[in-house]
Amino acid sequence: MVRLPLERHSVTKMNRIRLLVFNPALPVLDYKVPAHLSVEPGSLVLAPLGPRQVLGIVWEADRLPGDEVPEAKLRPILEVLPVAPLAAPLRRLIEWCADYYVAPMNAVARMALGSMAALRGGGTTTEYRLSGHEPKRLTPQRAAAMDALHGEQATIRELAAIAGVSEAVLRGMANTGILEPVTVDLDRPYPRARADFAVPDLSAEQRQAADRFIAAVDAEEFRPFLLDGVTGSGKTECYFEAVAEAIRRKCQVLVLLPEIALTENFLRRFEARFGTPPVLWHSSLKASERRRAWRAIASGEAQVVVGARSALFLPYARLGLLVVDEAHEVSFKQDDGVRYNARDVAVIRARFEKVPVILASATPALESLEMAEAGVYERVVLPDRFGGAQLPEIAVLDLRKEPPERGRWLAPRLVGEMRERLERGEQSLLFLNRRGYAPLTLCRHCGYRFQCPNCSAWLVEHRLSRRLSCHHCGHEVPVPDECPECHTGDCLVACGPGAERIADEVKELLPEARTALVTSDTLNSPERISEFVAAAEQGLIDVIIGTQLVTKGYHFPELTLVGVVDADLGLEGGDLRAGERTYQQIAQVAGRAGRGEKPGEVLIQTRHPEAAVIAALAAGDRDAFYAAEAEGRREAGAPPFGRWAAIIVSSEDEAEAREASRAIGGARPNLPDVLVLGPAPAPLALLRGRYRYRLLINARRSAQLQDVIRQWLASLSFPQGVRVSVDIDPYSFV
Ligand SMILES: [Zn+2]
Ligand SMILES: [Zn+2]
Repeated sequence: MVRLPLERHSVTKMNRIRLLVFNPALPVLDYKVPAHLSVEPGSLVLAPLGPRQVLGIVWEADRLPGDEVPEAKLRPILEVLPVAPLAAPLRRLIEWCADYYVAPMNAVARMALGSMAALRGGGTTTEYRLSGHEPKRLTPQRAAAMDALHGEQATIRELAAIAGVSEAVLRGMANTGILEPVTVDLDRPYPRARADFAVPDLSAEQRQAADRFIAAVDAEEFRPFLLDGVTGSGKTECYFEAVAEAIRRKCQVLVLLPEIALTENFLRRFEARFGTPPVLWHSSLKASERRRAWRAIASGEAQVVVGARSALFLPYARLGLLVVDEAHEVSFKQDDGVRYNARDVAVIRARFEKVPVILASATPALESLEMAEAGVYERVVLPDRFGGAQLPEIAVLDLRKEPPERGRWLAPRLVGEMRERLERGEQSLLFLNRRGYAPLTLCRHCGYRFQCPNCSAWLVEHRLSRRLSCHHCGHEVPVPDECPECHTGDCLVACGPGAERIADEVKELLPEARTALVTSDTLNSPERISEFVAAAEQGLIDVIIGTQLVTKGYHFPELTLVGVVDADLGLEGGDLRAGERTYQQIAQVAGRAGRGEKPGEVLIQTRHPEAAVIAALAAGDRDAFYAAEAEGRREAGAPPFGRWAAIIVSSEDEAEAREASRAIGGARPNLPDVLVLGPAPAPLALLRGRYRYRLLINARRSAQLQDVIRQWLASLSFPQGVRVSVDIDPYSFV
């Protein structure tokens, strides 16, 4: 009896191990384990590599092919890090993603790990904040820094970024006592969410849906749901009941949201339901918050995690439920590094973890609807708005028949409707999915156009910041006084509207209206978002002008008119999903209208009222839209009926990129179920200083697409400066 655990121990004691290593050139290496250390698959270890140390994950050798190293040449690992090993379901997910997305396995695994500091253990770190001590004399730099740092607490480096000053300035302020150090405990617990803090009254339909989710959480098995509910139907309240059940069962929950800018409203609802905010995970967390969150996730202490797509790969200790809210959103698709779709990977993770997953949307992706149709996903429908509110009336405004005045963008009828709302004390919302003032600036005298030096794109004028900026690479220049080409003064013309320009037009047409411009330029912090929401709810805003940031999540009872400034914008560009995306965006923004007791109205400005997507929106006929969209995709062999992949070749050297793309094109596979288009210059032929060529692959569903691409590319080699990346199920075709 006593010997049993010992025996088991000796059987599983690993002496020779294979590591997945975080080194691009040497991803798999074998080591031995010295007698005083013990590891298991998934353990995180430090190992010697040449004169340096590398981080590695112990992996099952039979699942990770590598070169056999003779026993005598094996070096011992140095250290086992004090964190729980990555569990088998997560290791399977990493393998699956690497295989499916044709990505290096260590690049996928990297997304599961926190910082080295988090892996090293808990303990404390030092942050700084204003001490309240104000010296009599302050340099202007220090005074400005003090203004910027009000209410902030972070490391010196993070504070320097917030205040826009050097770290040396802040160290000086710490030395003179203006900033004081604060010791932060990295493993301090989060407040506990309470499953029964504020149980809501659900409608009969919501109750039914919630009960199905709760049963799935209790069953602890893989069950994918498509929660398909019109805007305002109370989807969140429904899946909150499943979250509550997981909390009762002491399981962890991950809720993925498409954009962290949209979480403010969600967080308030979460806190109202569960008594405390959830644990957040996104790219702009402070280093100490990131370490704390990662450790709480890995230990199982974090109950509910709300995050952007990167939260999907974290090492949850006891995952019990996954939710993808606004599951149709394009931002779940990552377009650099490992190119994955978080919506799809969430379903795969749920399968490996044997837990339910809920994809929630008012406008599901066609792929998700087809999975429901095929019986793979269980479809849960909420057809009505909560509390008896009616869906808004949608009308089309044909800009060819009712053009705006010269130099303006809003048609008289739309302006008239806005004026009526203003007189009645109700709110209007104008939607234009384009930041800045104007998308193109040119010289009236010589025709010069401002273009980004790093990208094939025009510079967008931002009048608020008086800069011309590239929305692809971030390149910025001040708006010049004269044309850089012909040096004529006062000759620059703004072409086309951005949201800033529409806001200006509203101020001219309705000078008494109080307006709010809602873009990622103006609402760039949680504080600004809260201020906006509070002002809109208190009726301090008459007209909201916004980009896709305003299309979802918000619930303003007095908002009764939505104007879509340019419905045709999204249809340009030849993107495969342009129709679907336009439908989703307009349906979502339309869903902001009439959520209270007063009915809502939507006016869609378009030059193509006959386009299928506009006609379906006007008729309120979602099924007709999806049927037409499905038919078009079936004919084109597009997803979900066929498959697409892209190979993007880039280099800072134009000729090198072209040559490499030709070499790939020349080695194309000759298969009956795989069609290769290109190589051709990508629509964004220059991006961040790199020249880009693209091949598109259209395959039947029968094709082993990933294997074909792997074998195809494996036979080729490229110069150092050439980057070849594969995009499976691409969203962007630029
Ligand atoms: Zn000029
Ligand atoms: Zn650029």
